[in-house]
Amino acid sequence: MFYNSTRNVSLVSTPSMAVLKGIADDGGLYIFNAYPTIASLESLMSLDTLELYTEILSALICDIPKEKMGELVRKAYVGKFETADLTPLVKVGEDYVLELFRGPTSAFKDVALSMLPHLVTASAQLNEVKDNIHILTATSGDTGKAAMAGFADVDGTRITVFFPKDGVSTVQQAQMLTQEGFNVCVCSVKGNFDDAQTGVKEIFKSVKENALLEGKNIRLSSANSINIGRLAPQVVYYFKSYFDLVKSGDIKLYDKVDFVVPTGNFGNILAGYIAKGLGLPVGTLVCASNENDVLTEFINTGRYDKKRTFFKTASPSMDILVSSNLERLLYLISGNDAEKVASYMAELGEKGEYTVDASTLQKIKKEFYACACSDEDAFKTIKSTYEEKGYLLDTHTAVAMHVCEDYKKNNKDHNTCVVLSTASPYKFAADVLFAITGEKEENGFEALNKLETLTGVPIPKNLKGLDKKPILHNSSIEKEEMLKFVLDYSTKELSK
Ligand SMILES: *Cc1c(COP(=O)(O)O)cnc(C)c1O
Repeated sequence: MFYNSTRNVSLVSTPSMAVLKGIADDGGLYIFNAYPTIASLESLMSLDTLELYTEILSALICDIPKEKMGELVRKAYVGKFETADLTPLVKVGEDYVLELFRGPTSAFKDVALSMLPHLVTASAQLNEVKDNIHILTATSGDTGKAAMAGFADVDGTRITVFFPKDGVSTVQQAQMLTQEGFNVCVCSVKGNFDDAQTGVKEIFKSVKENALLEGKNIRLSSANSINIGRLAPQVVYYFKSYFDLVKSGDIKLYDKVDFVVPTGNFGNILAGYIAKGLGLPVGTLVCASNENDVLTEFINTGRYDKKRTFFKTASPSMDILVSSNLERLLYLISGNDAEKVASYMAELGEKGEYTVDASTLQKIKKEFYACACSDEDAFKTIKSTYEEKGYLLDTHTAVAMHVCEDYKKNNKDHNTCVVLSTASPYKFAADVLFAITGEKEENGFEALNKLETLTGVPIPKNLKGLDKKPILHNSSIEKEEMLKFVLDYSTKELSK
């Protein structure tokens, strides 16, 4: 098995080089040329959580030997999550919530970003790349902290995160500025998220075109969700939650399960599609959007149109107009038709929209259901789920829970439903508190305490006392200074 670009099947790479490179040279995303075969469901079900990660990751990134993969998995996860099974499954009413937020930063991105640094360093070793890997990321809040926590103190790597000054929540800012680790660096940029993101893209371009790091043994890389090393770990928790349902007797082995996913960049839900391709009995994949409903329109009509108003919602991690990982779905669902994908992506670049052909749309509709949810409906769902079912949802998971109800109403023959929960309610405590009580608490830290007092649900350890932790980073720069900032840190001697 090998990987190739979604836009050109002859642009090939080994799995580990795809992890190192992140994106293919033609701007396409790396994807396997064929699904690998994995062990039977019966034998996978007998594995413990870490063995399951090892088994599936070594099928997807097959040039890292399984024994080595086991080592990497243990380094990534042991002792880092609130529970030994990493992602607990909880019954809520007649449905199930898959809690993906029990990691070191209380965001679902922890599952993938805990693993990525170890995949990157092992891939470098395997390919005899001796460079120090310098990760660059712009963040609107969640990714930056999860990436720093993942890369902190990982030898052979360093990381710089840029966030928009005054553009992230009090809690998110405190999470980043208190991050420990000899190789982490975070800096605010005077501007909005787009300025920070554009700045990072320009740094990559400028460094490459002008060979600014030539001969310095430094390789710039990105931690964003187009890297196959971020996608692969996400496939595993679909298997894990399925086996949990079988083991608890809620379903029989080979029964189908529907998964409802709060979606932004389409990484999480694509991992579910890949799990299905590997043989997991998945029924429908339900794509939940907030008011930024570009994916809902796409799945229902076949037209992807990014020329639309951008809404800032209470589920900011899903505020997105271009869902990058959709490109991988188009590739897989069209039977590896890279020419077709390349032409859609060219249209998207030139005209801001494309429409898939009827047969592709038909295949997508067979696998997916999509619906959007307003902030108002998400808040109502937080309140009703708490009051009627005793479960506290965050704003993103509430979007999915609302869409789950819609899906079930319109599909009476649905299967057992698992709603993927992507954040701790405490990461968005002010909105969750408002949804339940109608009270607006402006102080981000106070909102956490009030929500805990109200509900009795404990604040996760990593968010508790955050306002009292020492601030370790205080850089703030103009966007024009970003390149120099990165180059300085790239060549700096770091000591533990
Ligand atoms: C990143 C994120 C999402 C969106 O996930 P995708 O894989 O980009 O679709 C949803 N919710 C939260 C809380 C997130 O951080």
